[in-house]
Amino acid sequence: MRAPLIAGNWKMNGSSSLVETFGEVLRGAELPRGVDVALMVPFPYLAAARARFPQDVVVGAQTLSDQGAGAFTGDVGGAMLKDLDVGMVLVGHSERRTLFGEDDAAVLARVKAALDVGLTPVLCLGETLEERDAERTEAVVLGQLEAVLDALAPSDRERLVLAYEPVWAIGTGRTASPEQAQQVHAAIRARLVRYAAGLGEAMKVLYGGSMKPDNAAQLLAQPDIDGGLIGGASLKVDDFLAICQSAG
Ligand code: PEP
Repeated sequence: MRAPLIAGNWKMNGSSSLVETFGEVLRGAELPRGVDVALMVPFPYLAAARARFPQDVVVGAQTLSDQGAGAFTGDVGGAMLKDLDVGMVLVGHSERRTLFGEDDAAVLARVKAALDVGLTPVLCLGETLEERDAERTEAVVLGQLEAVLDALAPSDRERLVLAYEPVWAIGTGRTASPEQAQQVHAAIRARLVRYAAGLGEAMKVLYGGSMKPDNAAQLLAQPDIDGGLIGGASLKVDDFLAICQSAG
């Protein structure tokens, strides 16, 4: 049985006072039992988030260096994230792939860097609108998945969380229909089963792309959708909590 995971991605948004607000509200709220909750906040707020958020809320980062440590000005290494008690890290978010030129090889290097220090990588996969219109959705998404899984040992594959995020639905207000999302999630799970039956059974596959309180329940009701990766709606604590409740 896969416990649902609701993970917020603040992207390059937020402030010390937003961390305080979330800390206060989350500490006073009753989070639904059996639902894992995580918030990926910008690097400067990780330590404050860990200090303020309830212990059962995982604090996550949004990327990491593919290098361990050294002369890489401006980069942040996985060991530093572990040092701050960060538990998860997004890898291969479409904004990193498109705006920062991270290709499959760069994504794989970051997944390995995360695994090396014991962080859970949340590997993001998704097609553009052009690719969907050309009926290449599954080829693109499964290609991104295989580029990572083929290069990992079986025991490391089990340590990933996946997030299917159609690029055309991220930050656009245009959500994949539950059926569209389920179709891709089912294809992802079928591909996981090819690696190992247990992998298909155990791996969490989240949906991301304009998930909001008013569409979360329908998406989360799909059999192969195990939670959400939430951008915009994770900046409003009431909306984020409402989505967490939908998963309970
Ligand atoms: C995201 O950033 O991963 C995301 C899904 O954003 P939004 O919810 O705003 O579409």
